[in-house]
Amino acid sequence: MSNLARLLEDSARRFPDRVAVVLGDTRLTYAQVDGAANQVANLLVSRGIEPGDKVALSCPNLPYFPIVYYGILKAGATVVPLNVLLKGREIAYHLADSDAKAYFCFQGTPELPIGREGHTGFEQAAECEHFFVITADPAAPSPIEGTETLGAALQGQPPTFGTVDVDDDDTAVILYTSGTTGQPKGAELRHRNMRDNALAGADLFGADAERPDTYLCVLPLFHSFGQTVIMNGGFAFGGTVVMLPRFEAGPALALMQRERVTFFAGVPTMYWGLLGALAEAGDAIDVDTLAATLRVAVAGGASLPVEVHKDVQAKFGVTILEGYGLSETSPVASFSRYGEPVRVGSIGVPIPGVEMRLLQADSWDDVPDGPDAVGEIAIKGHNIMKGYYGRPEATAEVIRDGWFRSGDLARRDEDGWYYIVDRSKDMIIRGGYNVYPREVEEVLMTHPDVSLAAVIGVPDESHGEEVKAVVIRAEGSTLTEDELVAWGREQMAGYKYPRVVEFVDALPMTATGKILKRELS
Ligand code: AMP
Repeated sequence: MSNLARLLEDSARRFPDRVAVVLGDTRLTYAQVDGAANQVANLLVSRGIEPGDKVALSCPNLPYFPIVYYGILKAGATVVPLNVLLKGREIAYHLADSDAKAYFCFQGTPELPIGREGHTGFEQAAECEHFFVITADPAAPSPIEGTETLGAALQGQPPTFGTVDVDDDDTAVILYTSGTTGQPKGAELRHRNMRDNALAGADLFGADAERPDTYLCVLPLFHSFGQTVIMNGGFAFGGTVVMLPRFEAGPALALMQRERVTFFAGVPTMYWGLLGALAEAGDAIDVDTLAATLRVAVAGGASLPVEVHKDVQAKFGVTILEGYGLSETSPVASFSRYGEPVRVGSIGVPIPGVEMRLLQADSWDDVPDGPDAVGEIAIKGHNIMKGYYGRPEATAEVIRDGWFRSGDLARRDEDGWYYIVDRSKDMIIRGGYNVYPREVEEVLMTHPDVSLAAVIGVPDESHGEEVKAVVIRAEGSTLTEDELVAWGREQMAGYKYPRVVEFVDALPMTATGKILKRELS
């Protein structure tokens, strides 16, 4: 019997006066965050929410996120965090699909347009029995007629609560997968999945409650990467979580300096952004002090381009630990080892308690052993979800005998380190040859005039698919399509190099910062 919320509670008991969350000039201690979460739990119980009920939460990275998240858990209910960019119709889908009984939704302010623009479909939320609007100022009236604010609803709720003991196998969180492909499905993660993954990760990164880390929280907390690695992992070891509601490289860098951040976790495009911001910052950023203070830099969520990795090492003097995982795996499955040399381009080795194999396409058999064999990653261990909520068939397609198949293609070297080749769905087949976009992107990014590249397949009459590169040029570059195509022809096999190049100023990204390839054409 346990509860994921105990991660917060135990730290609140041990370090009540330590700062748990920072947002701008606001600093909340562990006792304050835990007390507010208790109020949320009391509110839910007073409204008839029972253990096992689903409660949805749409909130950017603000102190309200952990307060409501742990409050829901304390009441024994399941949290359903939603992407803050969802529009009304999509919100309605997620609320219905997860059978949410209550919904907490941040209304936003002019400073936070994602909250305001993203939640215009409030009438959809009326389907939920209980709907609470989170306002930036808890004393402000609800901006939507006839609805209750969280601030008002919490009035009079006591800051103490007896956390409901749940079964370790009960569902703590339903995470809707990032939706870069297909219809969003809710991955049901047990209390033990989420807790053990947070603790295993923190252990790998050398977390120590006596020497607590200061985390920069720029990964959205509704997504598993930030939720597990920053929030649950950070709170478990009495760390301080410095929030930035929306990633912007310049402010992120300034905040790292101001708050003396020791732990940074980001998707590759964030590292790419930080490099650009550093170049622009001049003397405003003391990079030596920043690098000396930073103890851990973690990347995951998408392939970290080798060039970005090397540039970060050169400019910031820090080594990035790359990891790999999915919402369905809580999310961490593999990581480079803290304190050991990294292998650039590798996602590391399976974390303790987790195993990985490489499967043949369309079967559950292993690919033949060997460093050149490419197979689909399958994962087994404490981190594997219970299944997709309400979708036994979809679950059976991806989980068999405890093994979860990921859809990601990889190689394994003789020491057991894994290297992502690409997502199987992203693979391009040109004239019968398999082209892995990641490989082509890596080559393109070694060109001095290429800042960022995304490679996709486009329909082609004679070859079925053609390789196309969508490229952000380096500052001041005048590189042309013909020049890049000609250069690519020299660097890569005939079936691989992109014959079509489009230059853009920005690439579409998910709220997490992953490049949204399906929006490129
Ligand atoms: P999500 O469920 O949103 O966390 O997305 C999981 C997907 O992100 C995986 O299936 C991979 O395709 C991708 N991913 C995560 N980590 C990495 C990594 N280090 N390298 C390449 N792709 C990754």
